[in-house]
Amino acid sequence: MKSLYAAVLLALAIACAKQPEKQMNPFITELNVPVDYATITADDVSAYAKITVENAVNAIDDIKQNENPNFENVFVAIDNIYSEMYIASNNCFMLYWVSPDSLTRAKGLEGYQLLDSLSTVMYSDKVLFDKMKSFEASAAYAELSGHRKILVDDLILAFNLSGVNLNAEDLAKYKTLVKEISELSSEYSNNMNTSNEILTIDEAGAAGLSDNFKATYKNDQMGYEIPVMNATNDPVMKNASNEETRKAYFMLFNNRAADKNLAILQQLVEKRYELGKLMGYQSYAGYNLVTKMAKNPENVWAFINNLVEKSEAKAVTDLEVLNAIKKTELGDANAGPVDGWDIAYYHNQILKTQYQVDHEKIREYLPMDKCLQGVFDIYQELLGFEFRKVENASVWHEEVDMYEVYDGDKLKGRFYLDLYPRPNKESWFYGVQIASGKATPKGYEVPVSMLLGNFTRPTESLPSLLSYKELNTLFHEFGHIMDGMSYNGEFAMQADTKSDFAEAMSQIFENWIADYDMLSMFAKHYKTGEVFPKEIFDSMKNAKNVSSGYFAISQLRKCIYDMNLYDLYNPEMAFDSDGLWRTIDSELNIPFHVEGTHPQASWIHINTHPVYYYGYLWSEVYAQDMFTQFEEHGLLDQPTGLRYRNLILANGKQRDIVAAVEEFLGRKSNNEAYIKSLGL
Ligand SMILES: [Zn+2]
Repeated sequence: MKSLYAAVLLALAIACAKQPEKQMNPFITELNVPVDYATITADDVSAYAKITVENAVNAIDDIKQNENPNFENVFVAIDNIYSEMYIASNNCFMLYWVSPDSLTRAKGLEGYQLLDSLSTVMYSDKVLFDKMKSFEASAAYAELSGHRKILVDDLILAFNLSGVNLNAEDLAKYKTLVKEISELSSEYSNNMNTSNEILTIDEAGAAGLSDNFKATYKNDQMGYEIPVMNATNDPVMKNASNEETRKAYFMLFNNRAADKNLAILQQLVEKRYELGKLMGYQSYAGYNLVTKMAKNPENVWAFINNLVEKSEAKAVTDLEVLNAIKKTELGDANAGPVDGWDIAYYHNQILKTQYQVDHEKIREYLPMDKCLQGVFDIYQELLGFEFRKVENASVWHEEVDMYEVYDGDKLKGRFYLDLYPRPNKESWFYGVQIASGKATPKGYEVPVSMLLGNFTRPTESLPSLLSYKELNTLFHEFGHIMDGMSYNGEFAMQADTKSDFAEAMSQIFENWIADYDMLSMFAKHYKTGEVFPKEIFDSMKNAKNVSSGYFAISQLRKCIYDMNLYDLYNPEMAFDSDGLWRTIDSELNIPFHVEGTHPQASWIHINTHPVYYYGYLWSEVYAQDMFTQFEEHGLLDQPTGLRYRNLILANGKQRDIVAAVEEFLGRKSNNEAYIKSLGL
């Protein structure tokens, strides 16, 4: 429905675009004046999306009318359009995620979809493309260099990859495929999100589960009803000592939406293959990787194979250790090897019994206020920023805080913290940009970001006490915020880095809390103020590499699966998404797959982010490699921090990221630090 809808909207927008009076809307403010979120209504959101579309359509029209295309009136103009649309669609989507008002949320989603459909139309606009091409053929283009040349090249590539060069028949095919893929993908997500399996167990079945967890899911019949979803997976799979419970939960979890999504996945893979072919590539992965740092499937395969080789041996040893603890725990020397539903449980048993890592005890040393102060102190010192809280800022919910970021006297950006869960708020964790930095005739438009969290809430008797994993998430997501705040480039379009490098910039900051000197600066007992005990830290550190090879291989197995779907699909052969797991396992020599399960039916990445799973590891390799500079110079060494900020965080797409990383490292990048971090 999407692109047809867009065409209609576009026509509508054009029809009512030429209004003489200036369009007023509370989202449209003077340069660097924050939006008055507290007074925003659902109507404001709708009007904002509509005004933005109308302005964009007018501006596109102006470019198309232009007889003398040059860099300013084509490329700077497109960046201006992009920036307005980017800020509007982020605001709409953000309010869909966080607004306490249901109508505002609905209008937010609607506005986002409206803007998204316009961008599809814009990127395949042949007249607009002709203006770009005629500039590319001019002497002025030949004189361009640096980020301006990259902007032109990247935009022409983006239009090419959106089908602008296809003949009319193929362009129609392209649009149909894009539309079908988008519909299938929504259907897959919807089936996944609405699968509402419940595991019902009695007291014996609940053995090992925490009292808090049990209290949450107690039913009237002296038993428990546990919804099968991401939030309950860890607590059940790690702690349920009753094997029947683990097995039953595991089977339900790995069969979510299988009745519908296996068929949809097959269609998604087929349609994406056709799309890749239509665009002139051997596979969908070939098409998809053009704009990523990895560039092509060969590079991704070489990357995966190299890591498999390095982690295989440790994975086999890890599995033997898990098998041994199962025998010990069951007091049965003849007990079989661990099954799929045993891994998380026995891994956790090793941590508890052999390393004395008690995650509930650890929380007492991680109250949110101290952790947040630690995040602030470390990032400000390291990156040369100063954060100033704005009192009584206008925000969308009373719990939200707003901060301004300064470098000396210079305003660098603004970020919002929305840390705790509440009804109807998006339930995951994100550090996201709302506006990118950008040069304007009136001065620099500073970036705006938001940290959306769902951290443990304070209660009447307790402050918010974070788990170590939550602290890790806080440092990670704040890294994305710092990425946003650091950008100071000319164009909004170049603010985001390549998607398979993006995680590196926040993964690197997870290393700060793995250092006792850093952690002990802020982690203090919420009642006594006692510093995080060194013994607890040491046992966590010792436990860090337990099963690390096994977990590395299981990540790589998913990368291989994703790449098989989108790089090795062959329409001549029968598609068997279950058989694929078996084939991969036999090559890796580890029996991961449990017969009767279909994890590929509820795996968001292969649906919405195809050819992306390797990106987490790809980023991690760079994160660990770049961290070696801080290990060498000190974790609070500001000169290194400033080099990192200027070369890496501020870069976006202004310069080839490989060259930027090499300059930061003073050498070529390699995966040694990553391999070392796994204890291999
Ligand atoms: Zn991230």
